[in-house]
Amino acid sequence: MNDRVIKPAYIAATGRVHCFLCSHLVPANVLVNRRDQFTTPGQSCPRCHSSLDSAAVLSVDNARPAPIAFPRAA
Ligand SMILES: [Zn+2]
Repeated sequence: MNDRVIKPAYIAATGRVHCFLCSHLVPANVLVNRRDQFTTPGQSCPRCHSSLDSAAVLSVDNARPAPIAFPRAA
């Protein structure tokens, strides 16, 4: 079966994430699917320019953003 069919629809939103390096809350683009939340891959912290790929999402700003397809790794 095509993997595009069985992957859930993630929602692109803005939120606040915790940067591990500078230990601050910074705004970032996040992907949300019900309780599964993580940052959009490839972002950097606006304060210290470290990667936000493993940052913890603490809040999501948008109440009902438009759904998007999950970004593929390739
Ligand atoms: Zn930082």
